[in-house]
Amino acid sequence: MSGNTHDVMVIGAGFAGMAAALFAAQAGLSVAQSGVTGGIDFSTGFIDLMGVHPVAEGVRWDDPWAAVEAVSRDCSKHPYARMNRPDMEAAIDGFTDFLASQGLEYTGHADRNCRALTPAGTVKRTWRVPRTAWKGVLALESAAPTVIVDFHGLKGFSGRQLVEMRKATWPGLRTARVTFPRGSGELYPEHMAWALADPKYRAKLAEAVAPHLGDAEYLGFPAVLGLVDPGRVVAHLEELTGRQVFEIPTIPPSIAGPRLRGAFDRGLPPLGVRTLSQATVTEAGMDRDGFRFVVGRGGGKTEVRAGAAILATGRFFGKGLMADRHAIREAVFDLPVVQPETREQWHDREFFNARGHAANASGLEVDELFRPLARDGRPAHERLFAAGAILAHQDWMRMKCGAGLAITSAWRAVQGLRQGVD
Ligand SMILES: Cc1cc2nc3c(=O)[nH]c(=O)nc-3n(C[C@H](O)[C@H](O)[C@H](O)COP(=O)(O)OP(=O)(O)OC[C@H]3O[C@@H](n4cnc5c(N)ncnc54)[C@H](O)[C@@H]3O)c2cc1C
Repeated sequence: MSGNTHDVMVIGAGFAGMAAALFAAQAGLSVAQSGVTGGIDFSTGFIDLMGVHPVAEGVRWDDPWAAVEAVSRDCSKHPYARMNRPDMEAAIDGFTDFLASQGLEYTGHADRNCRALTPAGTVKRTWRVPRTAWKGVLALESAAPTVIVDFHGLKGFSGRQLVEMRKATWPGLRTARVTFPRGSGELYPEHMAWALADPKYRAKLAEAVAPHLGDAEYLGFPAVLGLVDPGRVVAHLEELTGRQVFEIPTIPPSIAGPRLRGAFDRGLPPLGVRTLSQATVTEAGMDRDGFRFVVGRGGGKTEVRAGAAILATGRFFGKGLMADRHAIREAVFDLPVVQPETREQWHDREFFNARGHAANASGLEVDELFRPLARDGRPAHERLFAAGAILAHQDWMRMKCGAGLAITSAWRAVQGLRQGVD
């Protein structure tokens, strides 16, 4: 085993783990991070802050800050109830500034959610969208003449479905199916994105869509417009077509995941983060002096020691929580999990009940500093913090607060950690 000692070990490489590693490194701490790509790989790339509350009534909010206030008032244990707006704004701005420095710009309205198109043709309220999706928000708001392009051989994205879903309120929306300039047969977003890094294929794509443009002011594509620098690909296509160009996410896994992952793979190591990527913590121990972890299995094991740890292992999807026949358990430290008292309460007769299932608000109870509590109600360790989907009393999927909650709680966890250091 090789060994190393750090100020903090971040366990998790989803939105919460990436944000925690970023904020801790920016605060001058030495950081190690492990985890395999999680929800980030399946996300649309949109950063939701707060969209739906109360979940049971499906009330949608245009002003996410009013929604945060409402959920904090109505559910006093929701993690947002422990945050304040300036910190939350600083967290999300810090996160998106970092992404912009890696070629992935984000944008949105100053004080309200954007309405963004999804691949199903529905409209999602979200706080920040990749800049390459922004003109789609504007096109939808103004219902301007728009052509949605899709491709022979690309599954999971249908311009026709999109138009069908929106035609009642957007009569100037049309669709055109073209052949992708490089390769026929089954197409994959990542391969298409690589091809479009080459200006030659962008020119051919512009030629293919030219006969369909008509009076369109906007031109929407599935999100395949480049992997590393999509802003440049969009700008070039705008120049070639004379139209405002935007992207719509494809169904997961979409290109948003590899784009975000690439930004962190490029940007975190120069900040001093030691990334033990694609490996998970297989053993963990803590005592008064700090933490000892074993990362990986077999011959590739690495031992890491750290003075503090941030647990950002997600819920069931991320494998931060595991369920057996009796209970829901936390997978790394076996911390107590807030959960329905009996197994029967995990279930609902209606699978798609809008209220959600009780198990989807299970997770870790934390104190004001975002330290998980032990069975005696005190922090499990002075210097153990938690962030993201693993936190109890929230149902991010139904509340539409996934990435926003992950990023803002990571900020709070790092603040808590620094409070102990300073
Ligand atoms: C299909 C889908 C679509 C989504 N769309 C959106 C969207 O449009 N907008 C939005 O805001 N959010 C969206 N999300 C949510 C978002 O991607 C995150 O899942 C959510 O914000 C929670 O992030 P997290 O980092 O807490 O957990 P996760 O993303 O689940 O990450 C958990 C991490 O912990 C790691 N881990 C687990 N156990 C260990 C261990 N023992 N050692 C080391 N690492 C470990 C995992 O490998 C993973 O890296 C979507 C999620 C999914 C699945």
